Amino acid sequence: MLKILKTRFKQGCRTILFPKAKAPDLPQRYRGRPIIAGQNGSIDLGKIFFNPDSDIVYSNDYSMATSKREDLVLSQEREMALARALNERMLKIFGRSLKLRQVSAGGCNACELDLNVLNTPVFDLSRFGIQFVASPRHADGIVVTGPVSRNMREALLKTYEAIPEPKLVIALGGCAISGGIFSDSPQASHGLDTIIPVDLFIPGCPPHPLTTLDGLLRLLGRISS
Ligand code: SF4
Repeated sequence: MLKILKTRFKQGCRTILFPKAKAPDLPQRYRGRPIIAGQNGSIDLGKIFFNPDSDIVYSNDYSMATSKREDLVLSQEREMALARALNERMLKIFGRSLKLRQVSAGGCNACELDLNVLNTPVFDLSRFGIQFVASPRHADGIVVTGPVSRNMREALLKTYEAIPEPKLVIALGGCAISGGIFSDSPQASHGLDTIIPVDLFIPGCPPHPLTTLDGLLRLLGRISS
């Protein structure tokens, strides 16, 4: 026990100060928000694979979550519109306490794993009043991962209906946003917003924990720049 306490004391506080301070530098190999470098076409961040003809380079910017599906489509002419804060009434309800139920609707588990990372001491999601709960009846919203396979559709809809109004819906990862690599399959949906209304789209495969945290804090009006 003494050894554990000594180690913890030596390690100090591991929680990042984001968003009060800048987020830690991400490794060089991290591929953040793509930038269209040439004149060629557009890219849809809501998909997992981009058009191979698009001339793109990757920045290390992790901010990519949007309020509207169409805002994930980037082109030379179109600047990215990041997620906006909820309206005043919704902020009053959810701004300081947001309970979420996670629904894994046929994904590969990588989205869920990186979502779990937000509960580690490094990110400490609960300091923002955001927590995951077991029952949809205790939740203010759902975070959906995966392409919503046919056999998960009913379970998803039942979970959604069990959450009291007003409620929030978050699509996390390319599969939930567009169906991902399964978008041509009759066994998967073509995006969560074709089934239920979505308030926040968090792209990535899987989204980096900072992308998710940044999106959630934008939705709650804690980041505006
Ligand atoms: S978006 Fe990528 S990481 Fe997430 S469930 Fe789909 S394939 Fe897996």
